[in-house]
Amino acid sequence: MEEKFNIGIDLGGTKIETIVLEDQLPIFRDRIPTEAEKGPDHIISQISKIYNQALNVFESDDFSVGICTPGSIAPDTNLLRNSNTTCLNGTALLTMIEEKLNHNVNIENDANCFALAEATLGAGKDHELVFGIIMGTGCGGGFVFNNQLRLGPNLISGEWGHSVLYPDGNECYCGKRGCVETYISGGGIETQLKNYGINYSAKEFLNNKNKNGLEMQIFDGFMNNFGRAVANIVNSIDPDIIVLGGGLSNLANLYNDGIEEIQKYVFSESFKTPIVMNKLGDSAGVYGAALL
Ligand SMILES: [Zn+2]
Repeated sequence: MEEKFNIGIDLGGTKIETIVLEDQLPIFRDRIPTEAEKGPDHIISQISKIYNQALNVFESDDFSVGICTPGSIAPDTNLLRNSNTTCLNGTALLTMIEEKLNHNVNIENDANCFALAEATLGAGKDHELVFGIIMGTGCGGGFVFNNQLRLGPNLISGEWGHSVLYPDGNECYCGKRGCVETYISGGGIETQLKNYGINYSAKEFLNNKNKNGLEMQIFDGFMNNFGRAVANIVNSIDPDIIVLGGGLSNLANLYNDGIEEIQKYVFSESFKTPIVMNKLGDSAGVYGAALL
């Protein structure tokens, strides 16, 4: 990121947010509705609208443009896949945006933007190797080394949510069984609860202080699986810090009991890795986009 000005655009299902950074400090921020129900062409024109507002706040040709989107661009076809703004799946999103804005655009998924933002400006600042974990509806992640995203030959670096925790375990939408995501994401927890006839949301369940015996057992299982899954990351790449994000990252137990659970499965006598809460919250996407 050598440019003086960086425009970041966070393309969400309900709102499109933009930020302008000058030497990594925000000088402008705004949001408009996505109005996804009006289709891809309308979404692109909303992006263009907010982009032009951002362009108006500085006078320079020395700027970059980054977009944060759910889902990812398939490397073989250049088409967007796995976005929860489903009307954009199968479109050549990046090409359409670049043509409309008439500028080169970097695009990354929300987990990678989260990791990059937290590593550069947030809780992972000043650490060399930062692993950012998102525990929300699903489990995503990103891997940042020296403030650079590590993408890898398959562009799946950080996708710890689809590592197999238990062979022949819970069914996952990705086609495999036993993925981490099916045990410790919001969606995964809710599926497990439903199987027991419990109709809480994941957040209600995790934050409920009066759990009965069965609920306590499910909760202990969740904490244990969190420990196993994070220990696998530590044993593989031993990051300098792990930053948690997403809706479930507010659960205080993760930062004390959770750390004890990780320690059980880490291949060393002591466990020193800081496991910390994110600092940028919902802003990580738009900051990460600007930093791409
Ligand atoms: Zn999976």
